[in-house]
Amino acid sequence: MTASREETAERLRRIMASEGASIEHNTKLINERHYAALDQLEDDRLERLRERARAIKEESIERLPELIDRLRERVEENGGTVYVADDAADANRHVAEVTERAGAKTVVKSKSMTTEEIEVNDHLEANGVDVYETDLGELVIQLADEAPSHIVGPSLHRSRADIAELFSAHFDLDEPLETAEELTTFARDYLAERIAEAEVGMTGANFLVAETGSLALITNEGNARKVVESTDVHVAVAGVEKIVPTLSDLEPFVELVARSGNGQSITSYTSVFTPPVSTPPLNGSDEREFHLVLIDNGRLAMRGDDVLEETLYCVRCSACLNSCANFQHVGGHAFGGETYTGGIATGWEAGVHGQESAAEFTDLCTGCSRCVNQCPVKIDIPWLNAAVRDRVNRTGDDSILDPLYEGLTPDAEPGGVDLQKRLFGNFETLAKLGSATAPLSNVVANLGPTRALAERLVGIDRRRDLPTFRRETLRDWFEARGGSAVARGEAAVDREVVLYPDVYTNYVDVDRGKAAVRTLEALGVPVTIPPVPASGRAPLSQGMIETARRQATTVHDALAGHVDEGRDVVVIEPSDLAMFRDDYEKLLEPDAFARLAENSYDVLEYVYGLVVQEGADPGALADPSAVGGERVAYHSHCQQRTLGLEAHSVAVLEELGFAVETSSVECCGMAGSFGYKSQYYDLSMAVGDSLAEEFEAMEYDHVVASGTSCGEQLGSVLPESGRPPHVVELIAPR
Ligand code: SF4
Repeated sequence: MTASREETAERLRRIMASEGASIEHNTKLINERHYAALDQLEDDRLERLRERARAIKEESIERLPELIDRLRERVEENGGTVYVADDAADANRHVAEVTERAGAKTVVKSKSMTTEEIEVNDHLEANGVDVYETDLGELVIQLADEAPSHIVGPSLHRSRADIAELFSAHFDLDEPLETAEELTTFARDYLAERIAEAEVGMTGANFLVAETGSLALITNEGNARKVVESTDVHVAVAGVEKIVPTLSDLEPFVELVARSGNGQSITSYTSVFTPPVSTPPLNGSDEREFHLVLIDNGRLAMRGDDVLEETLYCVRCSACLNSCANFQHVGGHAFGGETYTGGIATGWEAGVHGQESAAEFTDLCTGCSRCVNQCPVKIDIPWLNAAVRDRVNRTGDDSILDPLYEGLTPDAEPGGVDLQKRLFGNFETLAKLGSATAPLSNVVANLGPTRALAERLVGIDRRRDLPTFRRETLRDWFEARGGSAVARGEAAVDREVVLYPDVYTNYVDVDRGKAAVRTLEALGVPVTIPPVPASGRAPLSQGMIETARRQATTVHDALAGHVDEGRDVVVIEPSDLAMFRDDYEKLLEPDAFARLAENSYDVLEYVYGLVVQEGADPGALADPSAVGGERVAYHSHCQQRTLGLEAHSVAVLEELGFAVETSSVECCGMAGSFGYKSQYYDLSMAVGDSLAEEFEAMEYDHVVASGTSCGEQLGSVLPESGRPPHVVELIAPR
């Protein structure tokens, strides 16, 4: 392992050991509430809310300069001031002037990530002003002198016992505080005194309304209201992207932010008001001031950036963080930058702090896509990470090994791409070579010195089992048997399949490919397996986008003729199906994307269509009596679940008489190349252990998994079960 890989591994281990348990407990708890809150919505209401929210954000960012002017006019008409700050220093200078003019010695604040971004507390304190955070989580990290670990729950990494200890160390307590109620009561009383003595109240803003000059604060503690009500000078600090055109535009967000962020139908305090408010301040003065500080700090440049602009749609609900398996184990102190946390932090950090900040952690997004359906404004967070990774790749220094790579690999990348990424991004080349020279290649790859060298040079962790390449590929086998056993003219159904020979099925896991062929033929469908190259998934996950684009085009060209002749494309590996149905939208022309997306199927989705929808006779498929037991423990691949295809496998298994129990963890933790990388191996195994715990609590006769990575990981964390088969291997005719 190189020093930097070892340092990364060590840092992740340290954070997992100190903060992992609290982060995992808290994020999973929020997720349970979040998913239940979404289930309460009738029919397609969630989707309609998301569509509307997305459209409002698209319009708002499109019209941003005009909306800034409109908001300024309104706020000034209402009696407030507006300052558009170019950057953090500009914003802090202005805030300091406002507090100085107010003669403030004390500022009380409600929670605001934007004020964390500009580090306003440090600046005010350097000017002799005491700043008190009044949100409980923010108070905790202020006392601990830490950065937030989560954009909604800044102290999510700390347990109740931790917080009790922190309070004991900072306050002169009569008795130690133990329960959550004791801690919150103490904090409330302590903060009430600070709020009463403060001259200036500072808030962020969840939304700003250009039409009226109104401000929306969505909170659960009521402290933001107190901060505004009690002080006569209100300073609101917000990014320019928070502006929406009209009051009615707030509607979808009020519901979505509450459900996505905390699993509530509405937060405890949802305040929409137009400052300066007319009620007299509680501190006795008779006039209120309102100062709005709009922060650019890179946002206006993000607006025209084809990768980063989508980040400006983010409403910082945190659903993507909570649904991320890696985040659940390390939290934002590892999976985050200077201010922001989680997968979306890549966009925020690259935009406001610079690409180097994002480069530190973007590889922790494995592209599992579990966040995609959770985002209320439909941001494609995995794509954002891949695209920023691509930019980071292009800033690398050339290596002395680049000429060697360039001679051996067919990729479209420049020199300087990290060698580990380049190796995994060219897995197809490796697989062809490994298969052509098997079994010798497998023996050599597993020799101690080879593993040591591979770990040192390219960071392949020696604790991870390597794939075993097969000399006879799936296509070799298929041709040797004379092609399809069902002739076109004799087909029992009016369908024909082209089975996509993904790299893993073709060169490594040939048995699942054979099982798919036998299963489809048993249902009366003619099958063909043409030579089709890799989908581009491997380079895409390394941020090698030009290589992925080139492979996507080649795959399309190889399959287009089959599709045009009426054949259905059936895919075994879910991550490749996700390329065809989702990622290719970014890599191909619209017609080419639609051609593949609309005619490609997961193998079990296809079997479901034949058996359950078209009435094909499943009699030749294996049932529980043929395989020795009916209880199936099933882990569906993350991208398969994002595509909504887990249910099809379950339905087919149940149709055949199996009793199925499914796992609920978001991802197995292997995620393609991620689990092989020495800097991430321990994190990968920690995520895998959460999956193993679920399986250990089940009673089963068979463990099955639908993805290559899932099978490898389950084989590692449940060694007594061996490497589990794909569902199609369980049901294929014996
Ligand atoms: S990217 Fe989407 S899910 Fe993540 S915090 Fe932003 S709005 Fe929420």
